Amino acid sequence: MNAIEVSGLNTFYGKSHILHDVSLVAEEGSVTTLLGRNGAGKTTMMRSIMGLTPSRSGSIKVFGTEAAKLAPYRVARLRVGYVPEGRRVFPNLTVEDNLKVPQGHAGPFDIPRIYQLFPRLEERRLNRGRQLSGGEQEMLSIARALLLNPKVLILDEPSQGLAPLIVKDVFRIVTSMRREGMTVLLVEQNVRMALEIADTAYVLDHGVVVHHGPAAALAGDEGLIQSLAGAS
Ligand code: ATP
Repeated sequence: MNAIEVSGLNTFYGKSHILHDVSLVAEEGSVTTLLGRNGAGKTTMMRSIMGLTPSRSGSIKVFGTEAAKLAPYRVARLRVGYVPEGRRVFPNLTVEDNLKVPQGHAGPFDIPRIYQLFPRLEERRLNRGRQLSGGEQEMLSIARALLLNPKVLILDEPSQGLAPLIVKDVFRIVTSMRREGMTVLLVEQNVRMALEIADTAYVLDHGVVVHHGPAAALAGDEGLIQSLAGAS
């Protein structure tokens, strides 16, 4: 079953045509990564799926339901979680209170499980959001999205600005999400690491899908990896 099936998507910002007939499939229970240079249109693609920047034409199916014209809260109700670029935590709430905010479905992710996955958050549970490091804030953002027990989780550049050890942690968490049967759509600048954990990869360039296929095949394509600016 396809968790997400985008076809022929066109999205504009005013008169600027950003996404050109983009199609993408994320199979249920898989990790799909969306790669591309800065400005390629990755964030726009995620925002279009969420209904935050509605597409002008094309189809977005979430578990078979047409979602292209839905408001963001209705897309979220189809159990699509979204962790946007940049960390959004409540600065004045403690870690624990930040974690109590999401009121989602029952599922594998509850607060004890979150503390197991992110021991650092448990250590800091009485600290306020604003007292956390960038890496801790990213973990808290991801943790909050997980507590909604979405079926699909969209992560926009979760490793951005994080120290290598923390990046490893974030990728480890993505792997455990898949183990729980969650579908993950991962936008990443960290091309090599993304290809290591993803099943399928798409490369966007100037709003056009220029490559897609098994992540392992792309991982072996040095030329392609080199051509993606920001590749590490
Ligand atoms: P990055 O890695 O830098 O986030 P990206 O691949 O996510 O890049 P987008 O942020 O989707 O790219 O941007 C795609 C194009 O749309 C860029 O040319 C950008 O300048 C333009 N764009 C993004 N947001 C807006 C906006 N709100 N209004 C107008 N143009 C925008």
